[in-house]
Amino acid sequence: MHSGLYAGKTHKVLSSMISDLSVAILGAGLSGLAAAQRLQELGYQADIYERNSYVGGHAHSHVVDGFTFDEGPHVSFTEKVEIKSLLAEAVKGQYLEKNAVLLNHWNEYWVRHPAQCNLYGLPSDIVERCIIDIIKAQGTDQGPINTYSDWCRQGLGDAFSEEFTFRYTRKYWTTEASNMSVDWVGSRVYVPRIEEVVRGALRANTDNHHYITRFRYPARGGFGAYVQAFSNVDSIHVDHEVVLVDLKRRCLEFTNGKIVFFEGLISSLPLPELVRRIKDAPMKVVEAAERLSCTSLVLTNVGVRRTDGFPDSDWMYFYDDDIIFSRGNLPHRLSPNNVPPGCGSIQVEVYHSKYRPLPCDDVLNRSIEDMHRIGLLVKDDQVVVAHQRHVPYANVLFDLQRSANLGIVQSYLADRGVVCCGRYGEWAYYWSDDSIQSGWNAAQAILA
Ligand SMILES: Cc1cc2nc3c(=O)[nH]c(=O)nc-3n(C[C@H](O)[C@H](O)[C@H](O)COP(=O)(O)OP(=O)(O)OC[C@H]3O[C@@H](n4cnc5c(N)ncnc54)[C@H](O)[C@@H]3O)c2cc1C
Repeated sequence: MHSGLYAGKTHKVLSSMISDLSVAILGAGLSGLAAAQRLQELGYQADIYERNSYVGGHAHSHVVDGFTFDEGPHVSFTEKVEIKSLLAEAVKGQYLEKNAVLLNHWNEYWVRHPAQCNLYGLPSDIVERCIIDIIKAQGTDQGPINTYSDWCRQGLGDAFSEEFTFRYTRKYWTTEASNMSVDWVGSRVYVPRIEEVVRGALRANTDNHHYITRFRYPARGGFGAYVQAFSNVDSIHVDHEVVLVDLKRRCLEFTNGKIVFFEGLISSLPLPELVRRIKDAPMKVVEAAERLSCTSLVLTNVGVRRTDGFPDSDWMYFYDDDIIFSRGNLPHRLSPNNVPPGCGSIQVEVYHSKYRPLPCDDVLNRSIEDMHRIGLLVKDDQVVVAHQRHVPYANVLFDLQRSANLGIVQSYLADRGVVCCGRYGEWAYYWSDDSIQSGWNAAQAILA
């Protein structure tokens, strides 16, 4: 089956020249799967090699004793029409669609999201300082914006930045805002108009200014059900962890001893992992790849025999230093089929990186303790599942070194014809739809 991309005469010439092109794709996450599917649609053979015994990568959902947990909160809020319908078809139209309800937890207060527009009910001194500072910040020219810290101070004011944004940044991004660039921010952090701040300080607000206002989620199977969108992809080799990439001989070696040759190579592996495996990669490139930073994540997943009494929120942001997690969500709210009948579930996230080590050894028990302290768990709760999951690659860190190091790695790989895709292959802040799009782009790039 061929799409219109190489229609007519051009297509015939091209396909006779390269229909035997053997493409190897590293990683069967959404981007690798999307690349393979697109190549297959265009009539080319592609083999995917995946380290895990399952496909889907970060989009996979895990079932523990009847409770379904995603790898961190995953919902679909794509505006890309093609991807929206691809995902809807993947679950045969069986998805739930709802408005996002979000809360912040700050100094024992539950605050609607975004906090900068919902200061109502907080101590009057903090409200006053936030309002005065945002008026000062937005009313005067504050000079160039070089870091995320500058960006916050100029858009949100000093008081709000220090009390909220910087505290959250340390926990979630694991570094100081002054060590981060701003090329990732986009619409992810809302800069309110002064009227919105004042209005939200005087009365309980109901506007949602989060970048996710409405989302879809599969009715069954967790977010991972969307991976079915790629169920027609042939030639997926699971349990194949690549250990050596030889770009001269054009071959790959795996931990199981297998060796395969390729003509085209697409990789969705995290860039430092890929470069570490490339035979004779120049030291300059190896060092640049090692300097790319990301956060790692420890998830605590809890199932309880209770259906009510949870906060009225799909996911929550935690600002205080003495609460170990920075974010939490309630999987049973995303779909009631994520839990057995009569049960509810909670998932919280603790991030760490080279900048900030894990705050303690026993994250599981400390998280459960903190869930009790803030009322996510209550005294007589019957906890039926409590387990921990480590996610080594969570968010790409947009620290001040990222751009220069990424440039070195990308230009080396591009010169050798390696096409990289996905969140960690492009080392970008990609949502699932961006990763799928990136895989499609990679398929076209390898043919070009
Ligand atoms: C905490 C968190 C929350 C998120 N929330 C959302 C959300 O709400 N909505 C949304 O749209 N997106 C969300 N995302 C983003 C989404 O998960 C990613 O964009 C997408 O799943 C990434 O797909 P990928 O193919 O680029 O990478 P991956 O899923 O990482 O795929 C890479 C694959 O390579 C494999 N691999 C690694 N090393 C090797 C090796 N040596 N040999 C062979 N295979 C290897 C891995 O096992 C993996 O399967 C979230 C991500 C995280 C971490």
